[in-house]
This record gives sequence, C-alpha cells and structure tokens, in this order.
Amino acid sequence: MPAEVDGRIRQVAEWLRESAATVVLTGAGISTESGIPDFRGPNGLWTRNPGAEKAATLQNYLADRELRIRTWRGRAEGGLWTDAEPNAGHFALAELERKGKLELLVTQNIDSLHLKAGNSLGRMVEIHGNLREYVCMGCGERGPIERVLERVRAGEDDPPCRRCGGILKSATISFGQNLVAEDYARSERAAARCELFLAIGTSLTVYPVAYLPEVALRNGARLVIINAQETPYDELAHAVIREPIGEVLPAIVALV
Ligand code: NAD
Repeated sequence: MPAEVDGRIRQVAEWLRESAATVVLTGAGISTESGIPDFRGPNGLWTRNPGAEKAATLQNYLADRELRIRTWRGRAEGGLWTDAEPNAGHFALAELERKGKLELLVTQNIDSLHLKAGNSLGRMVEIHGNLREYVCMGCGERGPIERVLERVRAGEDDPPCRRCGGILKSATISFGQNLVAEDYARSERAAARCELFLAIGTSLTVYPVAYLPEVALRNGARLVIINAQETPYDELAHAVIREPIGEVLPAIVALV
C-alpha cells in the first residue's frame, strides 16, 4: 500500500478508536471480492446490461408473469449466490463488532454475507431486504425462500401464495418499492447520533439510503468513504480511500 494510503488507514483507525458510536454503510462493492458482481462498478450487472434495471422494478415484476417465471427459474437454478463466501472485508466488519466498535451496520446488500461472516442481526439493518426469505405481496406472509424454490423445481413456474393466492417475491426491496419504515428510521436515528460514518463499497446513488451520510454530516459526524470509484460525497468526506476493500478494511480494523 502506498505510504499516503497507509497514512489514511492509520487516521481512520484512530478515528474509530476515538468514536463512541460508529455507523457503517455497505453496498455491493464489499461483495465483489466474493464473486458477486455489483451494479455500477466496471463489471457491474447494469454497466454491462442496462436493461437489467427494469427487471428489478416492482411494477414490472407484478405486471409481468413471464418476468416472474424467468426470475424464479434463475433462482431455482442457483442464482441466489448461496455458494458465495464472505471475504476479508466482511470478516473485518465482524471483527469490528466483536471489538465493541460497531453501533450499527446498515447494508444495502441482499446476499447475507455479513451474517455469514459473523455480524449479528441485532446490530444490522438489511435495508434492501434479503434473499433468504420470500414474502407474499398479497397477505405479507413470509418464510424461507427454499420453500418456494422447491415448488419451482417440482414444476410450478410462478408459485402463488398458498394462503391467499397472491404473488410471491423474494423478501428484497425492489426499485419502486418502499423501504420498511422501521428499518430506515433505525438507520437514520443511528446516523444522526453517530460520531463516525463509514460508507464502504457503495456508489451512494440509491436513495433514500444515500441520504444517510448527509444526516451524519449534518450532526457533526466524520465521514469516511472506502470505494474504488468516485461518489457524490467525496468532497464532503473527511477521508476517501480508493483501494480494494478486502485490503483496506482488515488493515484498519487490525489497528483498532
Ligand atoms: P453500486 O453497484 O452502485 O456501487 C458499488 C461500488 O463499489 C462501485 O462504485 C464500485 O466502484 C465499488 N467497488 C466494487 N468492488 C470494490 C472493491 N473490491 N473495493 C472497493 N470498491 C469497490 O452498489 P450500491 O451502492 O450498493 O447500489 C446497488 C444496489 O444494488 C444496492 O442497493 C443493493 O441493494 C443492490 N445489489 C446488491 C448486491 C449484493 O447483495 N451483493 C449486488 C448487486 C446489487
């Protein structure tokens, strides 16, 4: 690591040691080193296939049975990243929690890798939901997604809810879908009270999550961005590190 980056790593570690409340926001960039592509990075799903954004929009999912059939088929054939393993970046954040230095981890990721790495749900908000569960868009019933996948593998191409006949969807927040109000409120409260806010592997362009750094800054917190590409907050940040997360985060947490 260049000396200048080394200096910033030491500085962020010092801020972490001093901070009585640290909030970490993660995005797809922390999982690329686990083999899961992000959306907007150079090899991102949408960078390569701009049409894919449509498929992730709630209104299209509800209106288009063919789209649901394709989605369930892809998931039943292994499109849920269940084989992906946490990488050094995820493990560093689990270590930060063990060291008692993590107030709240807000993740935009739906891949459950923070959970697999050892962070607890009690200190985590999966603000865009998760792929472990399904939810019925009619009656709100939830359960393990594997139950729906078994039905797909057994021949149902778009399995309806067994209780109300409604449309089933993964328990993720699609575009055009509201966040779970309590999840956002909890994240916003933590951002407003924190002394240090780390934004890691996120382009900070998906709202309302992208307001959180602003909430933290407005309340006097320090803002640190660890992301390979520029973000709209770089000029406001107290430190920006544009190096691979899997190298930078373990180096920082080792000093805390
Ligand atoms: P994004 O794709 O908009 O941005 C990811 C950022 O991470 C990019 O700016 C990229 O330069 C950076 N990055 C990628 N790999 C990196 C690395 N190894 N080191 C440093 N930087 C790296 O992601 P976003 O801001 O999270 O928004 C995308 C939305 O899509 C999220 O809301 C999320 O819900 C969803 N999503 C989730 C997953 C997942 O669960 N793993 C994957 C793709 C998309």
